[in-house]
Order: sequence, then structure tokens, then C-alpha cells
Amino acid sequence: MTTHRIAVIPGDGIGKEVVPAGLDALHATARRFGLTLDFESFDFASADYWQRHGDMLPPDWEQTLRGYDAIYFGAVGWPEVVPDHVSLWGSLLQFRRVFDQYVNLRPCRLMPGVRSPLAGRLPGDIDFVVVRENTEGEYSSVGGRIFEGTDRETVLQETIMTRVGVDRVLRFAFELASRRPKRHLTSATKSNGISISMPYWDERVAAMGERFPDVRLDKFHIDALAAQFVLHPEWFDVVVASNLFGDILSDLGPACTGTLGIAPSANINPGGEHPSLFEPVHGSAPDIAGKGIANPIGQIWCGSMMLEHLGHPEAAAHLLGAVEDVLAYGPGQAPLTPDLHGTGTTAELGRAIAERVSERP
Ligand code: ATP
Ligand code: MG
Repeated sequence: MTTHRIAVIPGDGIGKEVVPAGLDALHATARRFGLTLDFESFDFASADYWQRHGDMLPPDWEQTLRGYDAIYFGAVGWPEVVPDHVSLWGSLLQFRRVFDQYVNLRPCRLMPGVRSPLAGRLPGDIDFVVVRENTEGEYSSVGGRIFEGTDRETVLQETIMTRVGVDRVLRFAFELASRRPKRHLTSATKSNGISISMPYWDERVAAMGERFPDVRLDKFHIDALAAQFVLHPEWFDVVVASNLFGDILSDLGPACTGTLGIAPSANINPGGEHPSLFEPVHGSAPDIAGKGIANPIGQIWCGSMMLEHLGHPEAAAHLLGAVEDVLAYGPGQAPLTPDLHGTGTTAELGRAIAERVSERP
């Protein structure tokens, strides 16, 4: 029997509501597939913890979390108590950096029963994955200001691309594309305007492409790519992008597929030297926290991504299939939450999905 140790961090706001629903679905999937998932819950990376300790994380957090195979994360941030940049930099961004989670993965799939803001799109039309470089690129802190306060005031911020950093995310994207039926990879670039770093990116993409002759490769400038996401989302399969471009695309993509409440994401350390982290795209949503109406599907879908990452693709597909089944029943038959035009609660929808996991063939 396979055993995995999972660190659970519910965090703040609706994180604390959707994580239990996610765990129910994972328990049901584990039973069905004979997996043992050992969950241990932690209260740090939350505003409560910050209020008690004046810090987001305990000093030994790294040793503590290092012992786990994955981190199942809810949401962090409660601006009334702790400013967002403090909570984010003090927790999630530390995990990303210390655990070298250099791939940020966001699947964008239009699910049955969910209305896309793009007119006329049906489930099956949109099904792609954005692979974002997560550690370098445009988000470097290298730069500064000179001549401040004068009319020569000048600001400079560098982009950093290392060969290792670029190649490793490209390799991940090509490998992912080669495992998917369409075997199609699109690279986001802007080498017509950004004349040093982006041509380098293109060069590395072309070099890596030679090692993956079975993957159909194309590239778009980021401006055109953003337009294509909206006009022809069915074109895309796997999209790889630098940190900044990936950040933009990985919000735009899920926006094309309906509600924020169902979108999952993963911060991955592909080599497995460090734990990877699975979190929904949405935040702590203070406006609906405590009402029991948050959609748990983003969190549940994260569980599916986690199972896939841990080497259980069948269990992952089964869990996601259960989500699709329940969404397809519609608000009349299933306790869908208000963002999906139903009147169900977080707990009811979570339970319906966990039951479907056990029942579906
Ligand atoms: P962050 O700063 O972490 O990105 P945010 O506060 O900007 O978070 P979210 O917390 O993601 O944004 O919420 C944005 C909007 O989407 C809110 O109005 C919230 O009610 C809604 N929302 C977010 N997640 C869910 C969910 N799981 N179910 C239903 N509605 C949601
Ligand atoms: Mg916010």
C-alpha cells in the first residue's frame, strides 16, 4: 500500500472552509484506490498565527514541512489584521523560494455546467495548461533608482534569465506536452520588443524543441497570445511562459473558463527534492468568508493535481471525473454553490463530490 504524508495548511478565510471539503474528497479517493494519505494540519501561514506570534511562520517551518510529500494549501491573507504583502511574502513566497517550486501550473478547462464569459464556448472547447516560470525572469529585485527627486529621476529593474532556470521550466513544459494527446506546446515571447532576454528565451525553446521532435511547437508574442486566448482558446494545449507573462496568462486563462471558485493551481518542484504545493487560484475571499457558501471545487481539483503529482494518474482522473459529473448535474440536481447559480453550501457540495467519488464506475 502506498503511503503519502501530506501537510495541510488551511490558512485564512474561505481557505478554512474549502480545505475540509477537499480532504473529504481526497479521503474518498484514497479509499477507492487503496492509497494511504496521512494528513497533518498546521495553523501557521494565517492571520490568527500572525496575531499570536508576530510572524507568519514558526522558525523551524522548513524542517517541519520538508518531511512531507506535498503541501495542501487553502488561502492566505486577511488584510484587516495583516497587510497582504506581509502575509504573502511571509508564507507562500517563502515556500516557493525555499522549496524551489520553479513551475507554476494552472489548468484551464471549461467544465460541464459552467458558463464561460466567452460566448458560445462549450465544455471540451477549452482545455489547456499554463506553465509559468516561477523563480526568476522579470520578477527580480535587481535594479534601483538614481537621481531621485530631480528631473533626471531614473528607475531600472533587470530581468534575469539563467540557462538552468529557463531550460528546466522548458523541459517540464515539453515533457508535459509530450504526455498529452495533442502534443502541442506554445511559447509566449516578445522578442520583437524585448530585444535581449526574449530572443534568448526563444533560442532555448528552439534548442529544447529539438529534443522533443514529437511535440508540435509554436510561439506567439504575448500581446497576440492574450488576444488568442479570448478569440481561439481551443488552439491551445500547453502554454509555457516567463514569470511575468505566465502570471498574466494564468489569470486570463481561468477567467475564460468561468468562475474563480473552481480554478486550481500547483507550485511544483519537479525533481521531488522538495515538497510541491497545491492551492486554489482564489484567495481568502473575506467578503464571503464565514458564510459557508464558498465553492470548494478549486480546492478539490487541487487534490486531483496533487494525486497526479504523487504518481497516481488514475486516482487523479477519477476525482476530477467526479467533479465533472456533479457539475454536469446542474443546480437542479446537485447542491452547487451560489457562484454556480445554485443554493448549496460548501459542505454540501463537498459531500456530493465525495459521494460521487465512491459511487462512480
Ligand atoms: P487574492 O488577493 O489572494 O488574490 P482576493 O481577495 O483578491 O484574493 P479572492 O479572495 O480570490 O480575491 O476573491 C475574489 C472574488 O471572487 C471575491 O468576490 C470572492 O467572493 C469570489 N470568490 C473567490 N473564491 C471563491 C470561491 N471559492 N467561491 C465563490 N466565490 C469566490
Ligand atoms: Mg486580495
